[in-house]
Amino acid sequence: MPRPAQDRPNIILINCDDLGYGDLGCYGSPVNRTPYLDRMAAEGLRFTDFYMASPVCSPSRGAMMTGCYPSRIGFDDFDGRWVLFPGQEVGLNPNETTIATLLKRQGYATQIVGKWHCGDQPAFLPTRHGFDHYYGIPFSNDMGRQAGRRSNFPPLPLVRDEEVIEEQPDQAGLTERYVEESVRFLREHRDEPFFLYLAHMYVHLPIYVQPRFERESSNGRYGAAVACVDWAAGVLFRELQRLGIDENTLVIFTSDNGSRVRGEGGSNAPLRGTKGTTFDGGQRLPCIMRWPGQVPAGRVCPELAASIDLLPTLARLAGTEAPQDRIVDGCDLRPLLFGEPGAKSPRNSFFYFFRSQLDAVRTDRWKLFVRRQDAEVKELYDLRADVGETTNLYDQHPEVVAELMALIESCRQDLGDSGTGVVGQNCRPIGRVADAKPLTEFDPEHPYYAAEYDLGEAG
Ligand code: MG
Repeated sequence: MPRPAQDRPNIILINCDDLGYGDLGCYGSPVNRTPYLDRMAAEGLRFTDFYMASPVCSPSRGAMMTGCYPSRIGFDDFDGRWVLFPGQEVGLNPNETTIATLLKRQGYATQIVGKWHCGDQPAFLPTRHGFDHYYGIPFSNDMGRQAGRRSNFPPLPLVRDEEVIEEQPDQAGLTERYVEESVRFLREHRDEPFFLYLAHMYVHLPIYVQPRFERESSNGRYGAAVACVDWAAGVLFRELQRLGIDENTLVIFTSDNGSRVRGEGGSNAPLRGTKGTTFDGGQRLPCIMRWPGQVPAGRVCPELAASIDLLPTLARLAGTEAPQDRIVDGCDLRPLLFGEPGAKSPRNSFFYFFRSQLDAVRTDRWKLFVRRQDAEVKELYDLRADVGETTNLYDQHPEVVAELMALIESCRQDLGDSGTGVVGQNCRPIGRVADAKPLTEFDPEHPYYAAEYDLGEAG
């Protein structure tokens, strides 16, 4: 007997790396071919105002997994670095509750394939954060041995569960292996609720792709990598149909932060800014949700939503709720998924942090910048009329500024702000272990696929 579609739906969360707002056909890309994702949007809900909680990898990912702003969970700073590097002694605190932990408690089979980037020491690995199994590279694909890099890293590890199974794998073939692993997981768990987190390596630099995608690309290797991500989605959708579980499965597609742009072929258009900035181009990302028969097809949602909202939303879909013994920053987005056209977001504001520094706040219409990089700024943008953050209306709307300043002030007290030196009252510590060491060590005798990757580009 098939399960009713609403009973603990299967969840597939696809996350890309550094894929920008303007990189998909359905978000306006004139150069990248994304037929499967465009169809996903036509069959589901496409958000236009969906935010990741950080413009760089580790904080963005830790926040999405826990439903919390990075500062809440100590993921705003990694012993002075922006993101986690191989062998660091810090990572996602084992006391935090992830989406996978919640779903596992509800009887889900849980698997992550791809990039984790929330800590590479055993205590921080996905297998200690609610995932039954892990297969992938635990951090960025430019954190291996690579030609022409000033600071080189130990060999890039490919991990299964908690064991390194290969070093310096062929990156051009890795996405195909990720898809194979994902398909195998769907088949094994077709008769029970499952959670698959497919965290692509693409389109983070360096970009190695298979010739098939490069031949068809009109946007170089970047466009080829986007096409490969699209192909992967196509394979999963076909498999869901083949297994007869398409209508029991919610699929979510998004990206961890905006594109670096800088001539590599990526696009955050029509937004301003890039990866690593708190302009919208750094943090506003594609987000598509598809669940045939449940989420109405063909809608575009202009409401404010964020990756930290996924945890409470998915928890409710699975018949439970977000942890009640701690602060979680996410809102339940089910009204936007299932509601009538015009349903309002439960999210009233969104805060932009650069590392530990509170830069800006957004409400439905307005975005107030108080700081950027190391400078205090006074900028107010009407995002509904001026999506590219081009026209500063700070002096024209003192009443709006006052209202948003009040939000900034209370956020400072709550989460802290290194820009003004305010210490947050409700922050929890990052996880920390003693005697951390990298998962791999270079050995000149080891038969690596590539002792050094020859592309010197880095993200
Ligand atoms: Mg990234």
